[in-house]
Amino acid sequence: MPPPVSRASVVRLLNLTSNQGCRGCGRTHSALDHHTHGHGHTGIRGMATPVEKAIGGPPPGNTDYAFEMAASTLRFGQGATSEVGMDLHNMIKQLPSMDRPQAKIGIFTDPNVIKLPVMEVVEESLMRQGLNWVVWDKCSVEPTDKSWNEAIDFARSSHITHFLAVGGGSSMDTAKAANLFANYPEADLYEFINAPIGRGKPIEKKLSPLIAIPTTAGTGSETTGTAILDIPSKSFKTGIANRALKPTLGIVDLNNTATCPKEVAIAAGLDVLFHSLESWTAVPYNERTPRPSNPINRPAYQGSNPLSDIFSRWALETTIKYLPRIAKDPFGDEEARAQMLLAASTAGIGFGNAGVHMCHAFSYPISSLNKGRPVDLQYHHPSYSPKIPLIPHGVAVSLTAPAVFNFTAASSIPRHREALGVFLGKDRSHELNNIKDQDVGRALSEEIKKFLDLVEVPRGLEKVGYGSQDIGKLVEGCLPQRRVLDLAPVLAKDDLAMEKEQLASIVEGSLRW
Ligand SMILES: [Zn+2]
Repeated sequence: MPPPVSRASVVRLLNLTSNQGCRGCGRTHSALDHHTHGHGHTGIRGMATPVEKAIGGPPPGNTDYAFEMAASTLRFGQGATSEVGMDLHNMIKQLPSMDRPQAKIGIFTDPNVIKLPVMEVVEESLMRQGLNWVVWDKCSVEPTDKSWNEAIDFARSSHITHFLAVGGGSSMDTAKAANLFANYPEADLYEFINAPIGRGKPIEKKLSPLIAIPTTAGTGSETTGTAILDIPSKSFKTGIANRALKPTLGIVDLNNTATCPKEVAIAAGLDVLFHSLESWTAVPYNERTPRPSNPINRPAYQGSNPLSDIFSRWALETTIKYLPRIAKDPFGDEEARAQMLLAASTAGIGFGNAGVHMCHAFSYPISSLNKGRPVDLQYHHPSYSPKIPLIPHGVAVSLTAPAVFNFTAASSIPRHREALGVFLGKDRSHELNNIKDQDVGRALSEEIKKFLDLVEVPRGLEKVGYGSQDIGKLVEGCLPQRRVLDLAPVLAKDDLAMEKEQLASIVEGSLRW
């Protein structure tokens, strides 16, 4: 039998894997003494959970002490889509024999993707196995409560037993919602939507199997338990983030991004970039409060942690290297397309377990308010239908990024310096040593702007029709996004007036750059 591990070696390991600096104070602490230095992280919004000190139990305190890694099984391979019929057949075989004849697959896709070769491959694969399926092709580009409810009604009335999503994040998210609510036939939409917007109930049932086949390299939805929707009546987007929503399997196939238009590929790639950078800089899991009183309540968005860091850091580097190549040659550069697909799923594993923060919190009102504005002020991105006013999600997250990372830098200079080094690349790595700590945020902000220029992102909120008169509305739309704002470093979460002021100054700094 091996000798028991000494406490000293456990401490050493924790120190090695601990985050480099406290996002609250910017100082470096070991993982074990991280919360003993008394700079007041506890008591946020009065959600303290009393924790008994049991022998051999968790350390005292209200911050979390544990983190989990959850990800879907992922299969990467050019041409792997044609295996989906066999996957579903294998799943159906696991049902009791009397239930197998009732097995029915629901394919969730959108009006564009249904015309693409990927759907032919999928349907042929299902046909070869003699499977029974129905198609819902009305997933909307930016799903709303209305489009979700229609998809849910379809899933409930069709008695679907197995779900298959084919498309971008919108189709995958819609399929997740349809699966969830088909398994909870009595529940209304707000039952599981994140609190405080919804009731944020835990999902206690095992949902039906879901296979996701992405056709963009972006949301990473094939591996996460996140599903996002727009609620136009409230002028913001929100969602459900719960491990139970994770697809059973994601099939990531290079053939399926071969027809993706350049603007769509860039917008999707920008989402990957900020999934990586926001999860890399999110409040660490062991500074997040409250500690859950039951593990089922530990959020999917836990804060940065040693494992999500590995995924987020790799995805950041890969996106910075390959997304500009997609902008130059969206269809011909197969290597860049393949790397971006890997990066999207990898970032998905990173942020799916760590979470994102302010760029995402702002993106929800930025995208949503655009639709309710007078027609002459609405922004129409060239990637999608000219009839639909749209600021794509990836563009919406980018617009505040230069100001956001300048703001968050003080929380962990080493971490922001490392991100800056990734943007600078090998050729300019010598510049990094000359940048003083107090200038890291500004320098990172400048490098983000240069990168966004390369992929032709509009230079600031004014370019998509917002002005200083909209600052208040954008801050108000951002504030309810607690799921992500609570992971934002530096933000004064227990002082609402100060928090509003900080958010307003970020919007102001994002109007033009
Ligand atoms: Zn995103």
